[in-house]
Amino acid sequence: MIQIDDVVISLDVLRDKFICDLGVCKGACCIEGDAGAPVENDEVSKLQEVLPIVWDDLSDSAKAVIDQQGVVYTDEDGDIVTSIVNGKDCVFTCYDQSGLCSCAIEKAHREGKTDFYKPISCHLYPIRVGNYGTYKSVGYHRWEICKAAVLLGEKENLPIYKFLKTPLIRKFGEAWYEQLEVAVEELKNAGYIPQK
Ligand code: SF4
Repeated sequence: MIQIDDVVISLDVLRDKFICDLGVCKGACCIEGDAGAPVENDEVSKLQEVLPIVWDDLSDSAKAVIDQQGVVYTDEDGDIVTSIVNGKDCVFTCYDQSGLCSCAIEKAHREGKTDFYKPISCHLYPIRVGNYGTYKSVGYHRWEICKAAVLLGEKENLPIYKFLKTPLIRKFGEAWYEQLEVAVEELKNAGYIPQK
């Protein structure tokens, strides 16, 4: 592990390779798992604001869940997460004509309808950020449904922290990411992670 400011980073994030391969996984992370996506406190109001914009893209069952319990709920660990349908599908999931799952919020953002891209936890996946008092952890969450992303990342030799440069900067800032890049070079020179 290394530490930059108050963030402790797992070496896996710097060493392991990953590129989402949507043609294979079909965006399964939106509909698999047994809880919604983690939502930060200040993102709850953003989800509520974007709801009328994305409403027509949501499934009838998602609309029913939102009508009943809202856009988020508190999971077994006490974390705020997006509401889900049938115990697994995020309510903000939408589908394109080829059956690919995607995020209705991200779709609206790409169409210029909202400034909100999507919750930072979704943007950062497969990185998960943990909160421990004044410290945060940045770790790699391995999931079977992403195995094609591991293969593609290895083929293209792209480490996770580079694949997720944009959301890491969104979360921790440009200066933090620049420090991370310097630290990676030092770790390579010291032999803790491969040169390539
Ligand atoms: S995080 Fe995993 S399931 Fe989600 S789009 Fe990427 S590879 Fe696919």
